[in-house]
Amino acid sequence: MLRSVAEHQRIVAELIPAARTANLPLRAAAGRVLAGDQVAAVALPSFDNSAMDGYAVRAAEIATATASAPVRLPVAEDIPAGRVDRPVLAKGTVHRIMTGAPLPTGADSVVQVEHTDGGVETVAISEPARAGAHIRRSGEDVRSGDRVLTDGTPLGPAQVGLLAALGLAAVPVYAPLRVLVLSTGSELVTAGERLQHGQIYDSNGPMLAVAVQDCGAEATLLHFVADDIAALHAALDEQLGAVDLIVTTGGVSAGAYEVVKDALAEEDVVFAKVAMQPGMPQGAGRYRGVPIVTFPGNPISSLVSFEVFLRPALRAAMGYPSARRPVLAARLREPLDSPRGRRQFRRGTFDATTGEAALMGAPASHFLYALAHSNCLLDIGEEVEHLEAGELVDVWDLRGC
Ligand code: AMP
Ligand code: MG
Repeated sequence: MLRSVAEHQRIVAELIPAARTANLPLRAAAGRVLAGDQVAAVALPSFDNSAMDGYAVRAAEIATATASAPVRLPVAEDIPAGRVDRPVLAKGTVHRIMTGAPLPTGADSVVQVEHTDGGVETVAISEPARAGAHIRRSGEDVRSGDRVLTDGTPLGPAQVGLLAALGLAAVPVYAPLRVLVLSTGSELVTAGERLQHGQIYDSNGPMLAVAVQDCGAEATLLHFVADDIAALHAALDEQLGAVDLIVTTGGVSAGAYEVVKDALAEEDVVFAKVAMQPGMPQGAGRYRGVPIVTFPGNPISSLVSFEVFLRPALRAAMGYPSARRPVLAARLREPLDSPRGRRQFRRGTFDATTGEAALMGAPASHFLYALAHSNCLLDIGEEVEHLEAGELVDVWDLRGC
């Protein structure tokens, strides 16, 4: 009996600890998720101020103003932005005022400079003003005590702008989880070294480290280890105190020399066959207390496993509200076959303008070129054996978060 994808998703999600929180300066906090609601300690705006360059007036005093019969009044004060005293507008006078400058006491509207002659000693005003015109009222954007952003809000430029306007220098955010990525396989060779016949370069390590970073976590990428139990134990033991999660690739299938399976046989790790393709052999549990998730070694299997099991769990643990990739309904450009009893994730391209999805490459799990040229995964249900062109299929948008 195979384990369902949903069941293994749940098992992995339960393993991942909630991220710690840290108080970070706003710029460093950007891209992370707010940990805890933020309440405004000041109002926005914090004082009544002018929305225009012009003149602060009493509207009633310029009610008759027209272009042919302007109202002339003395300019008693000049109020640039940044003035911190509190001038009072005496009856029968106006104050020249700039955008963002505090409104003088007694003024009830602002006349744009364009409706005046721009005078400095006296000014001729050629239009009446509506009471309250061009005044930004204290608290009309945010009142002091308002809850302005809630726990779980991802911080982008606009949210940072709001927090900065409220005078905050730092905010609490969820810290990235620290993930150890470890490839296993005696056939693996470091980039730059000469390949001998039978050897391959390690693609899973860099690929998964970047996938981890890409979802907001922190990756430690270790040099891969050979299919050697002692070497694997040594590599893991060295990192135990420094990581929140271990991810391995390779060595979990049904062959001989399955180093991960063998090395973790005595540990609190369960290996299971999951009803999916690619990515059937999976393992999850704890290695000496530290959560560990083991992916199969085929590159496509390992990245699909990350997308299906780890990415949503990591993002949820780090507070992101949208832990899953957006799922869209697409029309198939071509027919496809899928193994009964296995949920299949095919690589593909989704065209948002036509709403169509096309397959990219064969189902086999070593086609990295096709993976690199895909922008979605087609999610084909366990019970589906065949779909015709034009039928609807769920696609996971790999560009969305
Ligand atoms: P395994 O799961 O260890 O049986 O490996 C399955 C297939 O994936 C084999 O063809 C391996 O050579 C390949 N493979 C395993 N690990 C990696 C890796 N880190 N990078 C690229 N290919 C790998
Ligand atoms: Mg292997």
